[in-house]
Amino acid sequence: MSAVTSRPESVPTVRGVEMASPRALRWQRLSILLIVTLPLVGVGAALWYGWGRGVSAVDVGLLVGFYAFTGLGITVGFHRLLTHQSFRVPQWVRVLFAVAGSMAIQGAVIDWVATHRRHHAYSDRPGDPHSPHVDFEDGFRGLLKGLWFSHTGWLFSPETTVQEAWAPDLLKDRAIVRVNRAFPWLLLATFALPAVLGGLLTMSFAGALTGFLWGGLVRIFLLHHVTWSINSICHVFGTRPWAAHDESRNNPVMALLGFGEGWHNGHHAFPASARHGLRWWEFDISWVVIRTMQVLRLARDIKLPTTTQLERRTRT
Ligand SMILES: [Zn+2]
Ligand SMILES: [Zn+2]
Repeated sequence: MSAVTSRPESVPTVRGVEMASPRALRWQRLSILLIVTLPLVGVGAALWYGWGRGVSAVDVGLLVGFYAFTGLGITVGFHRLLTHQSFRVPQWVRVLFAVAGSMAIQGAVIDWVATHRRHHAYSDRPGDPHSPHVDFEDGFRGLLKGLWFSHTGWLFSPETTVQEAWAPDLLKDRAIVRVNRAFPWLLLATFALPAVLGGLLTMSFAGALTGFLWGGLVRIFLLHHVTWSINSICHVFGTRPWAAHDESRNNPVMALLGFGEGWHNGHHAFPASARHGLRWWEFDISWVVIRTMQVLRLARDIKLPTTTQLERRTRT
């Protein structure tokens, strides 16, 4: 958290940023602290409860199912569709993805989009909300501080990205505004649904409890840290096959865990592209989902870089 206060001089030059009031900041920091720590407590509880008993197929199914639903809500929905507008979908699909992404508990949809657009506008320069490289000293200590800040520390920052400046299109979309307002209910639903399903599928209270733990808290823990690793690890560790004006990296492990988002250097080089894994071996499951939606006529006007654009930005 100390890193948060080490960058005040960068703020005034940046557009579309406000400082939270002390009262709002206290409330914000408390809620972030709960959202960061409770899933960790849930992991401990799930392991403790499962020790000797094992994990049931129902719980594994709930973990994988809710991870996929809410993870794709972030990667395909919040990120590629709503932030970068890299393809178009019918309104009901847009709302479905906005709901799924909200259930990943990474903030309400319009805040997420506004913050991420600011990340691209100032990537690894003053104004980037979560760069591991701005205002940290050289050497191992600075690297660790930068990694912590970009992974989790920035969530406690007093900087607030102004929605009117960064996401005016979404503020005009009444359905998205409604999803944005429903965030507290979707937060409840993301824990209640796996608990109810676990209880019904096993017809037991224990099934509801472990469904809540594995499909709720453990899933949120994994999804949070994978998403945050795109901000931290993928701006430090990996390759840079594309010319981008920042420190973004391609990291195959994060690409696999993060549904293709680990091809982050490709994404920063071509932010509007619906496909992040731009070379044939770069497996990008979010792109597979978008292509499948196109075949099913649920996605159209898909943006991809041309061969000439790719050649111009190739470094290796
Ligand atoms: Zn980035
Ligand atoms: Zn992006």
